[in-house]
Amino acid sequence: MIRSDLYIDGKWVPTSNRHPIYDPSDNSVITEIAVAGDKEIDAAIDAAARAFPSFAKMPARVRGEILRKAFEIMIAEADDLARLVSRENGKVFSDAKGEILYAAEFFRWFSEEAVRINGEFRHSPSGDKRILVTHQPVGVSLLITPWNFPAAMATRKIGPAIAAGCTVIVKPAMETPLTTLAIVDILERAGLPTGVVNVITPTPAGPAVSRILADPRVKNLSFTGSTQVGKLLLKQAAERVIRTSMELGGNAPFIVLDDADVDEAVSGAMLAKLRNGGAACTAANRFYVSKKVAKEFTEKLTAAMGKIKMAPGLTEGAQLGASVSIKERDKISDLVDGAVKEGGKVALGGEKPAGGGAFYPPTVMTVDASNSILKEEIFGPVAVIVTVDSDDEAIQLANDTEYGLISYVYSGSLDRALRVSEAIESGMVAINRGVISDPAAPFGGYKESGLGREGGFDGIHEFLEKKYIGVSI
Ligand code: NAP
Repeated sequence: MIRSDLYIDGKWVPTSNRHPIYDPSDNSVITEIAVAGDKEIDAAIDAAARAFPSFAKMPARVRGEILRKAFEIMIAEADDLARLVSRENGKVFSDAKGEILYAAEFFRWFSEEAVRINGEFRHSPSGDKRILVTHQPVGVSLLITPWNFPAAMATRKIGPAIAAGCTVIVKPAMETPLTTLAIVDILERAGLPTGVVNVITPTPAGPAVSRILADPRVKNLSFTGSTQVGKLLLKQAAERVIRTSMELGGNAPFIVLDDADVDEAVSGAMLAKLRNGGAACTAANRFYVSKKVAKEFTEKLTAAMGKIKMAPGLTEGAQLGASVSIKERDKISDLVDGAVKEGGKVALGGEKPAGGGAFYPPTVMTVDASNSILKEEIFGPVAVIVTVDSDDEAIQLANDTEYGLISYVYSGSLDRALRVSEAIESGMVAINRGVISDPAAPFGGYKESGLGREGGFDGIHEFLEKKYIGVSI
């Protein structure tokens, strides 16, 4: 059964105002979801605020076991969940299944972290005082997620919130709310107490989110989405000095040094570029390739991308599905057209296909370092290659952006790759790997790519307040 109502205070709540959710591969309507109005938004805040005091006191072991159970259900139902992700998002089944397995791991990881919220006990340097440091759940948290990873972005926030003892209001992207509702159905079956997780789907998002952020009972905002919306929300959060964590846009450089194994670099590039159809904040967006290997790399990448099968996400053997909407697809197409007008040369693809679905083909192009496309997050299967003369030029171009989420470096020598990694302004660097997302590692960006870290040991601390208790003896 596809859940399509709001989830508030442990109940599925229908509303008369409904919003269609489309399958972007053929624009058919999958279902119509309930639209949350002010009444439902206030009910979700009430429920989360009411549930918080007792949930914060629930033994960490019990909270962890609920997450563990939810992990197990997600794994058991992974194929069904993946089909749902594929239908509402457009990505191919293999990417959707990969996302579900990755998403479930956040529940497992944070089920283990729930019981390891450590404190400190120290002697003051003067010797006559004691320093106790403990952590307490921050309180009602608003979690806002994007459409590109509807499962993983939800569990990456809900997992640590539950582990920490926080109650939440989740606002998924309006293109892809069905996956979040399915995950909350799983949490309900795993035994999560009433009111701990509430899901609202308002449209438009802005006024509803402002209403929640203005409520004094809401203490924390965890947002994943574009830098543009993140900045708006930071301004609003400043009004009440709400805690925030921001996972924002990326513009990842993929650097291939002259001593790289070109075949490995091409395999890594295929992953870094085409995972999720290129609609990932971690997607390789700008390829800076040493002059010595640029021709070979471009030819081999073009050949590999040329073999990709583009088809609706649930088609057998499909490797590249639809973008999430025609609007998103057209953004990709406009970026490529603009790059061509500025002198970019298309080696593969570059044309919108005929037909109704939101498809854009694998595209490879070479451009000058000044081309405007290098400033934009493409969010599609478009590899843009720039030839560079030296490691220093690659570093300088890689850093020439307001973003700083992730970078990729391919080199045959570890010390050279490390030197480049340390000079790059990004929160994550992948050396000779095309994917490094890992629930056990800290995920987050420098510069305008965000604030805070999700996953790893840090993720739970986005939902905890540190408290120092001083004692004299
Ligand atoms: P988006 O337009 O910023 O939307 C993200 C979320 O914010 C959605 O739930 C959206 O709701 C909501 N929203 C939109 N306008 C709002 C407003 N004025 N006030 C409050 N909430 C608002 O981003 P997107 O297009 O869904 O996602 C793509 C972006 O996410 C890319 O930039 C990508 O790099 C970034 N991303 C970052 C990470 C990371 O970990 N750093 C991970 C994944 C994606 P509606 O859908 O209802 O408009």
